[in-house]
Amino acid sequence: MDYITLNNGEQMPQLGFGVYQIPNEETAEAVYQAIKIGYRLIDTAISYGNEEGVGEGIKRAIADELVTREELFITTKLFVNNVINQETASAAIDESLERLQLDYVDLFLLHQPYGDVYGAWRALGNSQKEGKVKSLGISNFDSAKMIEFVKMNDVGIPQVNQIEINPWNQRVADLEWHKKYNVQAEAWAPFAEGRHDLFTNPVLSEIGHKYGKSVGQVVLRWLMQRGVVALAKSTRLERMAENLNIFDFALTDDDIMKIAELDMKESAFFDHHDPQMVEWFMSRIENIQPGIKRW
Ligand code: NAP
Repeated sequence: MDYITLNNGEQMPQLGFGVYQIPNEETAEAVYQAIKIGYRLIDTAISYGNEEGVGEGIKRAIADELVTREELFITTKLFVNNVINQETASAAIDESLERLQLDYVDLFLLHQPYGDVYGAWRALGNSQKEGKVKSLGISNFDSAKMIEFVKMNDVGIPQVNQIEINPWNQRVADLEWHKKYNVQAEAWAPFAEGRHDLFTNPVLSEIGHKYGKSVGQVVLRWLMQRGVVALAKSTRLERMAENLNIFDFALTDDDIMKIAELDMKESAFFDHHDPQMVEWFMSRIENIQPGIKRW
């Protein structure tokens, strides 16, 4: 496993295991197996509804002496309904720790660029002072909003911005902005969840063939060589292992140029600026916490 040093000096594994869309009752076993085969970074979120499962998997792995707490890097995220103000964020941070059965998380993110992100950031800063959170980050902030946030908040620079990065949406200019502001970019959906036939793409398949590697391995290796932290999700043990096995080969400049040509420069999912999507996120607040209104 390779490690990245964040802007606060903390070490973060460069490859992690994501648990989005894994049902809570299956998550403990998935996390346990992931740790057993060598994953050290686990990425969950309040909105995934599986923090209990993550906590249970971690607890079992530590009890079986597969790993120590200090060797793990656990990430979770505040959802939009937690980012109404500083108080809702503070309460949600404590509830998260309880569900995870942890004294601290390694990285707490603002999941979406909506709501009272400054109030929630202060809540995260206070939790950091209390030792409940080691590093703080944002997610789905475009570069313009990230720069504003870096400059305007009174807590500190985020360590990480977790954004969609995959061969269809390579974020070349965004990675330059992250470098300039010393915020670590972390890729969600590195495989674009298989969209646009990613796993059978001829260019990626041909590159993989040269090294005896799969398309998934080529994509993760490409992210490692771009200095990005990547999250991969699979509930299949053989794929979990395959996705980890990327530290014994290197792509050439020519491979990287060929992958660059695949860039469609737009999300394989949705645009966070699309009013309909913002409307959908706002409806989550009402659905999750009926009666909450700010206007
Ligand atoms: P992803 O990792 O791009 O793709 C996961 C899909 O690829 C699953 O359907 C998985 O199927 C399949 N897969 C995995 N490895 C494979 C392989 N080697 N060969 C063939 N198929 C493979 O998508 P993601 O789960 O959306 O993203 C990864 C993580 O990023 C999430 O779990 C979550 O932690 C995080 N995330 C964050 C945000 C955010 O807004 N911050 C948004 C989305 C995701 P099987 O499970 O059947 O193997």
